[in-house]
Amino acid sequence: MSENHQELLERMRRMLATGLQTTVEPFPPTEKEFFRIAEALRALDPDDIRGKLVIAGFLDHPYGPENWKCADCIYYLANRKWCDLPELAVPVEPDWYCRLWRM
Ligand code: SF4
Repeated sequence: MSENHQELLERMRRMLATGLQTTVEPFPPTEKEFFRIAEALRALDPDDIRGKLVIAGFLDHPYGPENWKCADCIYYLANRKWCDLPELAVPVEPDWYCRLWRM
C-alpha cells in the first residue's frame, strides 16, 4: 500500500523531530546558488524524502531573524499543506522552513 499524504507528513515530522541534520546553511544568496540546490534535488530519486530534507535544509520550526516559514513562502499551498516547488513536491506544515524559501 502506498503512503498517503498524512503518513508521509508524519514520517517527515519524525525524521526532523529525532535530530536529522539538514543543510540549513548557506541560504542561497542569488539565483545561481538557488538553482544549484534545485539541481541537486532533481538528481535524487523523487521518493528519497530523507535526501530532500537534508539537501533543502528543512527545519520543523521557523528560521532566521524574521522567522521565515513555509506559510509565507510562494511555494506553499495552504489549502493542501503542500510545497509546490517541483523539486520538493512534499507535504509541509505552515511553521516549517527550508532554505529554498522565497517570498
Ligand atoms: S520551498 Fe521550502 S520554505 Fe517554501 S514551502 Fe517549500 S519547503 Fe516550505
